[in-house]
Amino acid sequence: MASVLYLTLFLSLSCVLWNGVDATCVPPPTSTPTPRTTTTTPRPTTPTPRTTTTTPRPTTPTPRTTTTTPRPTTRPTTRPPTVPPLPPASCPYGWTQYGNRCFLFQNAQRDWASAERACNGLGANLASVHNSADQRFLKNLVNSYKRSFARTWVGGHDRYKEGMWLWTDGSQFTSAPWPRGEPNNLGRNEHCMEINLRGSTMYLNDERCNRNNFYICAKRV
Ligand code: BGC
Ligand code: CA
Repeated sequence: MASVLYLTLFLSLSCVLWNGVDATCVPPPTSTPTPRTTTTTPRPTTPTPRTTTTTPRPTTPTPRTTTTTPRPTTRPTTRPPTVPPLPPASCPYGWTQYGNRCFLFQNAQRDWASAERACNGLGANLASVHNSADQRFLKNLVNSYKRSFARTWVGGHDRYKEGMWLWTDGSQFTSAPWPRGEPNNLGRNEHCMEINLRGSTMYLNDERCNRNNFYICAKRV
């Protein structure tokens, strides 16, 4: 057995001396594990591109902050022009604006209290008539619908106390464009105000409240 060992040792030494350090003289089992290391090295190369894709993300939020800063500067400048369009608050469809009020002629005949309640249902009251200009506007409004100056209820009354006239819209009754001879409380039973008793010639009149008249509603713009 010892001779066999010496023989193999001799042959391997002579092989090295003769051919140099070569793979044929070295036992083969050591050469097989080297290819495994070559396959594992490409794996770490694939995760590295992932990290490169995530790094550009933090760079995108920074342009967002730069775009939001100019917004507050533009808003204050654009707001002032948007305020003026508010004044053109207009009357509802079918109503006619005169001064700061909207008026609606109602082409139906009611007693005075029913007329006032009907106006209330529209968010309005029977129209108050503070001066001759108001009176003229209301007469023309009636005429535009009826092609005549038909008798029409407005919002004055002295139902609580004779001669103590009030407007149903709550405005102060300082004066009214009464014609000469009115209000006369004929028959001691006239407590509601109408226009157009004598067509276009006569202004206001106190009349029995149960008479059926056309009526005009009014409310603030
Ligand atoms: C009316 C009265 C009014 C009188 C004026 C009558 O027809 O009912 O309210 O005062 O006319 O002449
Ligand atoms: Ca009268």
